[in-house]
Amino acid sequence: MADTETTDLTDAEAEEFRARCRAFLEEHATGIHLDGDADVGGAKRMAKGKQFQAALVEAGLAGLTYPTEFGGAGLTKQHDKIWREEQGKFPYMTFELIISHGMCLPVLNDFGSDAQKERFMAKNISAEEVWCQMFSEPGAGSDVASLQTRAELDGDEWIINGQKVWTTLAHLCDYGILIARTDPDQPKHKGISMFIVDMRDPAVEIRPIHQIDGGQHFNEVFFTDLRIPKDWQVGPYNEGWRLATAMLMYERVAIGTGGSGGVTHDTADRLIDVATKNGTITDANIRQELMKLYSSEVTKSLVSMRTRAELKAGRAPGPGGSLGKLFGANIARQTRSLALQIVGPGSVAWVEGSGDEKWSKTALSSFQSSIAGGTDEIQKNIIGERVLGLPREPSVDRGVPFKDLKVGTQKGD
Ligand SMILES: Cc1cc2nc3c(=O)[nH]c(=O)nc-3n(C[C@H](O)[C@H](O)[C@H](O)COP(=O)(O)OP(=O)(O)OC[C@H]3O[C@@H](n4cnc5c(N)ncnc54)[C@H](O)[C@@H]3O)c2cc1C
Repeated sequence: MADTETTDLTDAEAEEFRARCRAFLEEHATGIHLDGDADVGGAKRMAKGKQFQAALVEAGLAGLTYPTEFGGAGLTKQHDKIWREEQGKFPYMTFELIISHGMCLPVLNDFGSDAQKERFMAKNISAEEVWCQMFSEPGAGSDVASLQTRAELDGDEWIINGQKVWTTLAHLCDYGILIARTDPDQPKHKGISMFIVDMRDPAVEIRPIHQIDGGQHFNEVFFTDLRIPKDWQVGPYNEGWRLATAMLMYERVAIGTGGSGGVTHDTADRLIDVATKNGTITDANIRQELMKLYSSEVTKSLVSMRTRAELKAGRAPGPGGSLGKLFGANIARQTRSLALQIVGPGSVAWVEGSGDEKWSKTALSSFQSSIAGGTDEIQKNIIGERVLGLPREPSVDRGVPFKDLKVGTQKGD
């Protein structure tokens, strides 16, 4: 396995690797064309993502920085940076794998036992098995430590009962990372553990949630006496909160820094193109708003590059991911308003074949950006406390046993 922290490439080696990445991307990153299919549940996009990932494995470019013994390429973070820079110039092919690769995989790598890594990492990297994240519950979103899903040990098995919600792509996934309450006598952040769940088990019921844009990408997930092997618990017993926090940081980095490693302004470019074609580019207000969007995208790229550089230097993802995440939500809001102005009535009543429909979808799906992966308010709390050093939010339930709290459906004592 290569030393992923310290090895530096010579200029010639870096150039050679860059050329290899570019050649691969030119051949395989040709965009996802669905020929007008709405792909309501995302199955077609998932299939395309898996196909792309299989080609990456074949080319020795999958899981770049992960150890070879667990299915990675065993290369350095410098290789990864070069790959991201090149990937940013091509259509993104593996959006449906962001949770599996950007969140579940690093958590398995950081906290999984050797047996878990051996069993699960290679197939996760190759996307033969895709993973989802099961944190949120009806009574536990921003305050996810209020979760009520229970895990009880029975001999060599854990028995899981409860409900998760908003589980992205659960219906297309093979495995999931679950956090559940293992000790209700402990305060709420202490009695939680992390588990691996087989999503195909009959004791797991997955029900789709219908979205505002017509899609069905996320779900409610119910567990009724689900039995999982004892050794599918990840990391130390009752320390799941620490692992969950690490996963949330990876989530914000994955969402907030996107797939690219360079300075990008794709959305502004696409809207400039539309505005040039339909003449709205001559409107002074629209020009000004386009410039603001362009600047926001450039700034987000620079923040992302700094966060990625911190990761490259071997540091765990910190609150920097929250900055990128918040920027992303602001950009989605700017895009929504600007796209509707530029595209005009076509964004709500489009002419078939005009391409305007995609701006309607962009506007409708933009609302999720300020919620998924932690709301804007939560990112601002994190930035306030951990970047600006402001006082912590008051918390009255920190030392109280979970069973005595009034949260979710629980009445407390
Ligand atoms: C597209 C999408 C995909 C998702 N995918 C997943 C997934 O795969 N897995 C998963 O586990 N979850 C997923 N989620 C759930 C997501 O993590 C939660 O929706 C999010 O954490 C917010 O929780 P909530 O919806 O319960 O809102 P609440 O926590 O109930 O928040 C309601 C409002 O109160 C505000 N608020 C709450 N607490 C505070 C506070 N302390 N200070 C200031 N304001 C506060 C919030 O900002 C928000 O405006 C997804 C959500 C979306 C939209």
